[in-house]
This record gives sequence, C-alpha cells and structure tokens, in this order.
Amino acid sequence: MKKGPENCVRCGKCLPSCPSYQFFLKESYSPRGRNFLFSKDLASQSYEFCLYCERCRSICPHKLSFPEFYWDKLFSEKGISLPYLKDSLSLLSLLPQGSRIFKKWEVKEILPFTRTQGDYYIYLSCGLKHLYPESLHKFLKTFSQTKLHPQISMEQDCCGILYLSLRAIHNLKKCALNKLRIFSEKKPVITFCATCFWVLKKVYPKLFENTDKEKDFKELSERTYFFTEFIIEKIHYTFKLENKSKILYHFPCHLKDPLTSQEKYLKNIIDLRDFCCGSAKATLWIRGFQEKYSSHWKRELIGKDTIATACTGCYLNFSFLLKRPPQIKHWMEFIK
Ligand code: SF4
Ligand code: SF4
Repeated sequence: MKKGPENCVRCGKCLPSCPSYQFFLKESYSPRGRNFLFSKDLASQSYEFCLYCERCRSICPHKLSFPEFYWDKLFSEKGISLPYLKDSLSLLSLLPQGSRIFKKWEVKEILPFTRTQGDYYIYLSCGLKHLYPESLHKFLKTFSQTKLHPQISMEQDCCGILYLSLRAIHNLKKCALNKLRIFSEKKPVITFCATCFWVLKKVYPKLFENTDKEKDFKELSERTYFFTEFIIEKIHYTFKLENKSKILYHFPCHLKDPLTSQEKYLKNIIDLRDFCCGSAKATLWIRGFQEKYSSHWKRELIGKDTIATACTGCYLNFSFLLKRPPQIKHWMEFIK
C-alpha cells in the first residue's frame, strides 16, 4: 500500500540528517514536523524550505520522503505558468554577478566527437553547456577511442528543476515531454549533473504517475545513467581521480537517493565530502537563504584550493557564494 505522511511513527531518526532542521532547529522545519503538518492539511512556510535533498528518505526506516508527499499535491494543482526557457542558465549572462561564471557554448568543440546516430545519448544540460563545458570536452576526448559512440542533439533543453522550484508544473511537464521526444530511441542517456539525473530518474515518473505516459517515463528512467556509472558499467573503464590534498570532492545530495545512489561506484575511488550546499531553489535565493546557510558548509573548505562537484545547482551555489580560491570544477575534469 502506498505510504503517506500519516505513516510517520515520529521516531526522530531523520532529524539529524535534515539540513533545514539543522539550520532552523525548529520541529516544523524537520521531516517529522513537515509530515505531521502536511498530514493534517495545515499550511506552513517550512514546506518552501524543504531543500528536496531527500536525506530524510535515505535514513527513514519506513522510507518516507517528504518531497514525494508534497509533490503529489503540487503535481495535481494547476500551478503557475511561466515563459518557457530552453536554456535556464542563459539568464546568468544577463546578471552582473552571473556573467562572471557563465561560459559561452561553442558547438564546434564537440562536433568532431559526436554522431547523428550514436550508441548512447549525452544529455546536454544547461550546466554542461554554460558552467562546466570543459568536462564534456574531456569526456569526449578521453573516450573517443572506445567502441561506443555518443550522440548529442543540439536541441536539448533544461531538465525543468527551475520550474519545479517555482511551482510552474506546466513548464516542468513540457521539459519532461521534450526529453521523451529527444531521447526517443531505446538507448542509454548519460548525464553529468546529479540534479538532472535525479529529475530524469525520479521526478518525471512521479510527475506522470497514473497517466498514459507513466510507462514511457519509467522506461526513460531505467536507461538514464550518471556518467561515472556509465564509464564503469558500459565503457568498462576503471577510472581514478587526481588525489591532491587541496582538492575537496563534494558529494551532491541527489546522488544519495536509493534510486540514484552512486556510492557503490565511488566509495573506493574518491574521498567524498557529503554535505548539502543549501539547494539552488530559486525561491530561496530570493530570500537570501543560501548565503545564510553557507556557514554550515564553509568550514569544509579549510586548506582547500579547489572544490569539485558534479551537480549544476551545487556548482552554481559555490560559484556565487565563494571568492577564489577555491576554484570550482566538475569531477570529470580530474578523471585519469
Ligand atoms: S528533503 Fe531534505 S530538507 Fe526536505 S525534509 Fe527531507 S531531509 Fe529535510
Ligand atoms: S525517520 Fe521516518 S518515521 Fe522517523 S520521524 Fe523521520 S519521517 Fe518519521
């Protein structure tokens, strides 16, 4: 039987792992508090401060996920409708602070390595284009001699996480349906961003639950891989990462969910530091939350000159909130 927030037994095991509870130290900002309020149909500002990290689900003996309960309601509502942006991060180039981290996307750099009919799709996300394109160039060069050849469609767009955080469900659905069309052939899809990975694997099937598209999105979810998992399982390449003491390898929350977990692939390869960046939810940026929250993770950086992550939201937060050093990089840039 499907579980709901009323199934919370109030054991409190999730409280230490919930970043928003650790920040606010109020019961209503814990998974247990949110589940209680939500089960009673009570409104609370704390729902907005759920970071969608799903650490509660990882630790809960009953595998309860507050975001899943919240989305059930959110996805059944009309929500707001926004202008549709194919490329969410293009907005960065318009902001004085954003133009510092925005990189202009040059198609010519990848054309020699891709085919119109390849063996697998590369998901060309906004982060891959405009924050860490070097990681894609390095991936293509490193694996250009393998038997499997990548296919990249230039018309790929945002996974829709921006719309999820703004509750623009109509826009999110449009992003999802575009992925079904672009990745229509039954080939693996690989992503370089933990959040895109989680959206394709988990959020889309939930979004289309009990509709005629549910089966299609489950099938797409099953053939979606994180790039590290793909390198090991499909390319059969045992990689290592540069092991310099001044590099901090950050582990994004969205690689921790049982469905998206990458720990089994990585635990003997990288010494990962597991902390939440404070989420890149746009509604929380407007309130200045991430800046306040950064005091919870900045101490991790003592003695480091580089922070390497594998998630667009975390990469953005680190880029906005830190002054160099440290420099911000993607894991792929350190793969040997
Ligand atoms: S998803 Fe994260 S922030 Fe939200 S209730 Fe669960 S642990 Fe807390
Ligand atoms: S761990 Fe699960 S059952 Fe226990 S308080 Fe948290 S949500 Fe409720």
